[in-house]
Amino acid sequence: MAIAIASIMQESNTFSPVKTRYDDFDPVFGQAALDRHAGKLTEMGGFIDVLRRRKREIAPVCAAWAITAGRLVRPDFERLSREFGDALSSIPKPEALLLAMHGAQTAEGEDDVEGHTIGLARRLLGPLVPIVVTLDLHANVTAAMVEGADAILGYHTYPHVDMFEVGSKAASIAARMLDGKCKPAMRWRKVPLIVPAENASTSKGPMARLVRRAGEIEARGQAEWISVFTVQPWMDIHEMGGAVVAVTDGDASAADRHARALAQKLWDTRRDFDADLVPVQDAIREAIAAKEGPVVLAESSDSTGSGSPGDSTGVLKYLVKAPLDGAAAIFVVDPEAVETLRAAGVGATVTLPVGGKFDLKNSKPVRVTGRVRMLSDGRWTPRARGYNPGIEQSMGASAVLECGRVLILIGAKSTMTVDPALFRCHGIDPLYCKIVVVKSPLGFRAAYEPIAKRMMVVDTPGVSTANFARMPWKRLSRPIYPLDAGLEWKA
Ligand SMILES: [Zn+2]
Repeated sequence: MAIAIASIMQESNTFSPVKTRYDDFDPVFGQAALDRHAGKLTEMGGFIDVLRRRKREIAPVCAAWAITAGRLVRPDFERLSREFGDALSSIPKPEALLLAMHGAQTAEGEDDVEGHTIGLARRLLGPLVPIVVTLDLHANVTAAMVEGADAILGYHTYPHVDMFEVGSKAASIAARMLDGKCKPAMRWRKVPLIVPAENASTSKGPMARLVRRAGEIEARGQAEWISVFTVQPWMDIHEMGGAVVAVTDGDASAADRHARALAQKLWDTRRDFDADLVPVQDAIREAIAAKEGPVVLAESSDSTGSGSPGDSTGVLKYLVKAPLDGAAAIFVVDPEAVETLRAAGVGATVTLPVGGKFDLKNSKPVRVTGRVRMLSDGRWTPRARGYNPGIEQSMGASAVLECGRVLILIGAKSTMTVDPALFRCHGIDPLYCKIVVVKSPLGFRAAYEPIAKRMMVVDTPGVSTANFARMPWKRLSRPIYPLDAGLEWKA
């Protein structure tokens, strides 16, 4: 008998103009899933590490991860779901399933891909096989997820650096369940709020206090795991909001007590999450005035980790005109520009429009003239703790265009920008730049804090803006904070 392991992960943004496709997940099945994650600091890496140490047989099912974007198109969702089900059915019936998901994935006609997937696994495995699920801290936890899983464990960190630890804990709970040494009792509270990611760090501020409280309860042995889910805010779906999920060893009333107490605390501190956004031109001026770089400007409204297309010119349009006194690096998604630059070749001077090709509402292309400094296949490997460390990523064909002091890294496809390795793999070292522009609300702080002289989140329009009132909500359940600011609620 073996323990099955699987991961299907994506954070959706239902406002994104870019749909998600099957290929974006780069899914692999069976042994290849194990090979991708063994020895890596991912949830699956944690599953594998603990199960090997405990001498448990591992049945790898699949591994799939996609950059954040809009809903997965329907036929591709059905294909991915069918292939997961087929892969799970093709192995001898496992004694448990460990499943790593994000918790905020949507598809066309499906607001709750995780709930659907957990439900599918439950139907295939029956009611008695333990299913332990790991989720991102930005998961939108639903009744279907809680119903289908024996235990749900979310990250304790943001920026997310504890994927391996969460995976390890999930695997140890499953193994202890099979040894008759743990009987998870899970209780939860949904909280009617959405909060901006910009001020939700677990190292300081309101979220740090909540996570510390959860950690104290766990450290005293009163809970196996308590997760505070602040939720990814840009999902216009009915069953939307924050949540607290508490898992204890067999004590349902304690789990309920902890979930209720922390949900109330999350609600009571909701106003402390308000984000401090700096107007772009002020931020560039202050960065130039700074004695030393790098000064990191975070364009969170176009965060490629929050479902934005990464094509915003909200910062770029000012950057190319600014009187820079040092190099500035920025990443932009624009497949057409990459094609033009590839055709021109390295060393050529080219005038072309860059960016503003997907989110036509919030950005316009910027006309720039520059020298093609580098062409690449766009493959790069994250090094810092966080998303997929050690696992090669691809942003398709890419180019570096040098426009005066601005180095524009242009990718044919979106990619995460939180790790300086993205620029380093393309001949740009952020350490020696005066300004570095990342497309992330907070995740970038893990790897950039040690090198940045200053960091600012800039205010630009986009589909992952912290300004929720700007978004065209239609299906969101009301009332919800902060859109209904006077809302009263008790856990
Ligand atoms: Zn997250």
